[in-house]
Amino acid sequence: MWCRSVLQSLRLMSTSRKVSECVCSRVRVCVSPVCPHQVGVLFDVDGVLLRGGSVIPAAHRAFRKLVDKNNNFLLPVVFVTNAGSCQRHHKATQLSQLLEVQISPEQVVLSYSPLQMFKSFHEKCVLVSGQGPLTDIAKSLGFQKVLTMEQLREGFPLLDMVDHNRTARPVSGSCFCPNSACLLVATAIILFGEPIRWETNLQLLIDVLLTDGNPASVYDHQLPVQLPVLSCNMDLVWMAEAPSPRFGHGMFVLCLESVYKKLTGRELQYEALLGKPSLLTYQYAERQLRLQNYNHRLSTIYAVGDNLMTDIYGANLYSRYLAQQQALTTPNKVVAQPMGNPVKTGDDLLSSAAECRSILVCTGVYNPCSPMQHDQSSPITEATFCAHRDQVLESELVEPHHVVEDVEAAVLPFGTKL
Ligand SMILES: [Mg+2]
Repeated sequence: MWCRSVLQSLRLMSTSRKVSECVCSRVRVCVSPVCPHQVGVLFDVDGVLLRGGSVIPAAHRAFRKLVDKNNNFLLPVVFVTNAGSCQRHHKATQLSQLLEVQISPEQVVLSYSPLQMFKSFHEKCVLVSGQGPLTDIAKSLGFQKVLTMEQLREGFPLLDMVDHNRTARPVSGSCFCPNSACLLVATAIILFGEPIRWETNLQLLIDVLLTDGNPASVYDHQLPVQLPVLSCNMDLVWMAEAPSPRFGHGMFVLCLESVYKKLTGRELQYEALLGKPSLLTYQYAERQLRLQNYNHRLSTIYAVGDNLMTDIYGANLYSRYLAQQQALTTPNKVVAQPMGNPVKTGDDLLSSAAECRSILVCTGVYNPCSPMQHDQSSPITEATFCAHRDQVLESELVEPHHVVEDVEAAVLPFGTKL
């Protein structure tokens, strides 16, 4: 049944899409306008191009349609992934090797990328949670004082008591033996991605939150102000090689929110939620597309993804935002985020595209054959809305403009006319 709907969607796309009218063989950031495009594409990675470390075969076929004989993209392309455990030049190298096309770091937007805009936090001491080279990542974004969970755990060895085999035995009689790194008191928390040891990070994050950054003190359940928390990537699940989706950072955040509420009776508050479906991430991605387009505005952005709650919700939310922006008579420099506090940005991040079209593929989290899958014909309810707590349930935001079998089908409308 879904195949018929895919074919209908493809037919619709091939006849109704306005595609690029001029072809340019360069995607590098150029100074002088040579041949600007009307169309740009945002590709999700996991479940669209890759399953774990393996390339989805349709991705190779799709990209052959999008590059010239010199392997240069024929239109602006940006890869927007909620991954966040590596630096973007590493992700660009990985994607280049796997997809056999040349991808520059400027074409990669990771879940944490917009953090470089949060300059008011760059001078603060930030506690970082996740995995990978977090200190290097944070410093590359502009943060100057970075405290890792490992440093916190070493400085306060009696905090982490879940795994008895890892429990530290302080040599002195003191409860805590802070080292020099922990003389830094965390004044903000950045959740980059799912950690390896969830129990350690849950415990230590709660310790820091309930002591206002100083875990040597006892909990204060009635702190008047909560430490700022900036969280990247709200994906509850993502698609790797396993038959069913795997836990994502959104699942870890769900645990943290639950523990915090259980202990305090209050909701954990966020200073910002980044990554898809955050508007800020789409604004940032549009800027990266525009840089490849000689700083000319694009008419239509296509966003290809496999997750209804992040890729489709985010693209539709951004399209709605673009329509609202066009209706304004004066430039609006405050990003109207649906989650977290508004962020002041520079002119280069102002949205200018006319629309953002969402395309859902069936090679990842979304599987129309799964009995667990939400039936597209029935309205979405709280019970089937598997999104982050702060996302507003709106059925129209999880309705893709198009549903296609895979990424090769997704690029047909613009790939065949280049
Ligand atoms: Mg995905």
